[in-house]
Amino acid sequence: MKSNEINQLMTFGESTPRMPVLFVGHGSPMNAIEENEFVEGWRNIGKTIPRPKAILCVSAHWETKGTFVTAVPRPQTIHDFGGFPKALFDVQYPAPGSPELANETKQTITKTVVGLDEKWGLDHGAWSVIKNMYPNADVPVIEMSLDYSQAPQYHYELAKELASLRNKGVLIIGSGNLVHNLRLVAWDKMNEPEYGFDWAIQANEKFKQLIQSGKQKELINYTTLGREVQLAVPSPDHYLPLLYTLALKEENEAVSFFNDKAVMGSLTMTSVRIG
Ligand code: ZN
Repeated sequence: MKSNEINQLMTFGESTPRMPVLFVGHGSPMNAIEENEFVEGWRNIGKTIPRPKAILCVSAHWETKGTFVTAVPRPQTIHDFGGFPKALFDVQYPAPGSPELANETKQTITKTVVGLDEKWGLDHGAWSVIKNMYPNADVPVIEMSLDYSQAPQYHYELAKELASLRNKGVLIIGSGNLVHNLRLVAWDKMNEPEYGFDWAIQANEKFKQLIQSGKQKELINYTTLGREVQLAVPSPDHYLPLLYTLALKEENEAVSFFNDKAVMGSLTMTSVRIG
């Protein structure tokens, strides 16, 4: 290891009180520029929790073969969507990266060799939410990718290895949606503040009960949870970030929910705070 790398690691060597962990439902990219209750919920959380030294975000929108972390000092704002107004494409979120935290994460994880990525930046799963939590873009952010070749149990175990970062001032955020079925979106309910199909609300309630009662095994094996959950999670991308958050729960830590609403029929914005 080069000496400048050792110095960088030391930046994250100091211990801090244990940071909370979040799962956020990010929903439509428009939340980045709209004023609504979900944005308000993110803003509140940003004000309520201790100020982090850096953020590690596991976003539904960065899937790779193998696990990577962004390792550039100035991550680009990625507009990874189509068909939205120009105002959304104009958004830049210039938070610095943290090659130091990327290195620290790489050293911390033993389950796989974590790659240091210099091409990705911040996708909307990260910036649409974090922009509202920390509008001054003054908290460094890195992303960690989802290895699409791995099963849920693997993601859960990998996430457990991130636990020590919580004691180094790192806020770990899983960004996805508990209920997320774009094929079944009720486009006619797009402008209603709150609308969920029965199955979406039932799946959301089931998830919340299991989260609240610590039934992590059931949540890892979500494909066996019945029809509502199968509709809620047609593909794993928006669900897996939840497992990263849950894996970091220590015994006796408090669990609470915010932004607990369904929108557009087949999405829920329900978010989880641990600690
Ligand atoms: Zn998304």
